[in-house]
Amino acid sequence: MNFRPDSSHFTYADLEPIDIHRLDRGQLRSRESEMLHSVGLRPTAQRLVLTRLLFGNGDRHVTAEMLYEEASRSNVQISLATVYNTLNHFAELGMVRRVSIDGSKTYFDTNVGDHHHFYLENKHELIDVPLDHIALGGLPEIPEGYEISRIDMVVRLRRKSRG
Ligand SMILES: [Zn+2]
Repeated sequence: MNFRPDSSHFTYADLEPIDIHRLDRGQLRSRESEMLHSVGLRPTAQRLVLTRLLFGNGDRHVTAEMLYEEASRSNVQISLATVYNTLNHFAELGMVRRVSIDGSKTYFDTNVGDHHHFYLENKHELIDVPLDHIALGGLPEIPEGYEISRIDMVVRLRRKSRG
């Protein structure tokens, strides 16, 4: 287990996929519960399922509604409110990062390393852009007593109109 909330992000790249329709607690007991323990959370069935859905298949950008849809297909009952609260809790613990679009739509990003995003307006989808792929210049002077904590940029893309 090498989950470090403050640096690189947790990855499940080497993990075998699990059929979410046939989840049993034994299957979920290992990595998911270890991950939850590492941030001081008790591994409830609901948290285990959400952890698996979130981190079980590479980096993702999901809304609470998207994750709720996926969780509804598992054999564990989870309300939208619980999904929402759990995601916000995970964000506070540094397991995921919030990315807000239009101030109303919030995505939760499992890649907590510094990076930027493309936002596909027609598909409502975020794509990671590595930090060094956007060159920033000419930043205004920072107010005294402050330093930059993070710059994350969302570059909005729309489909070209034909003709
Ligand atoms: Zn991202």
